[in-house]
Amino acid sequence: MVAQGTLQDGMDSSASSPAVRTEGLSKRYGRRAAVDGLDLEIPAGTVTGLIGPNGAGKTTTLGMLLGLVRPSSGTGTVLGMPIERPARYLSRVGALIDGPAFYRALSGYENLVALAHAGNHDAAQIPGLLETVGLSGRAHDAYRVYSMGMKQRLALAAALLGDPALVILDEPTNGLDPAGAREMRDLIGSLGRAERTIIISSHLLPEIESICSWLVALDHGRALYQGPVNGFQTGSSAMLLIAPEAAEDLPLLEDLLLEMGLRGHVRGDALEAEVPAEQARSLAAEINRTAMARGCVLVELQIRRRTLEEAYLELVAGASG
Ligand code: ATP
Repeated sequence: MVAQGTLQDGMDSSASSPAVRTEGLSKRYGRRAAVDGLDLEIPAGTVTGLIGPNGAGKTTTLGMLLGLVRPSSGTGTVLGMPIERPARYLSRVGALIDGPAFYRALSGYENLVALAHAGNHDAAQIPGLLETVGLSGRAHDAYRVYSMGMKQRLALAAALLGDPALVILDEPTNGLDPAGAREMRDLIGSLGRAERTIIISSHLLPEIESICSWLVALDHGRALYQGPVNGFQTGSSAMLLIAPEAAEDLPLLEDLLLEMGLRGHVRGDALEAEVPAEQARSLAAEINRTAMARGCVLVELQIRRRTLEEAYLELVAGASG
């Protein structure tokens, strides 16, 4: 079953047509379905994360959107144009997929000029793009001396040539060290804006959590979830962590929780209680007020929602179990 989020959290339900829509999109290799009847709707203007385990079908899906892989069945649109006719929309799509091919002897700048000519883009934007991706200082060095991070930045600049309405990035932080990955992530997060949609595939859930507003979770070529990132994470329950100043107040707090219909579990000097996510704030406030009224001072009161990673592991376990 597909968990479907709702348009919320800053999404405008009257927004223009989706950047990507697919219906029953499938790709079979022999008897194996790499993508299996995918119905996607990616709202325009989002930074959308495409997540899923190895072999889930992320690259194949992106390949079909980019006209690199021919679907076995199903249909769809990209920027309002049919995916059967990629030539109609590809000039408005930038992509970083499968490590781009650059000339090793040419500089970053010269490589972008060559790509701009090939794609009929205005070369005047190149200095600005190099600035955006933080390569200005090394723009005239030969590509072959670039570090992995610099190569990825150049690839991102190449994907941004022509100011595309849709940017597709397949594992853009692959091979980068943690600092490089973080810089790349911040950079990508800053590229999203109202008139541009970004789709980024990744294994790294904290990466997706920090920059994406929309999420598509794939498994075995199907969408297990699509909707706002927040909707995916929140789930139905949250944890309250409640620590009294004096450990001997723990039984008093336990009783107080029971009166509210909650069961607290002792964890060191604190109590932990699972609560319905949407009531977490009001319950925390009530616990604080009542504890105070009974002379019990709290030194910690925390609402702990699931991380994207926890939510994801639960979803995948549920789907295969
Ligand atoms: P990863 O995170 O490992 O990159 P992915 O989610 O991008 O994985 P895909 O590369 O789309 O997954 O692969 C989905 C499935 O399709 C896998 O089982 C893969 O082996 C298979 N597949 C992909 N391309 C081909 C191909 N050209 N020929 C045969 N099978 C393929």
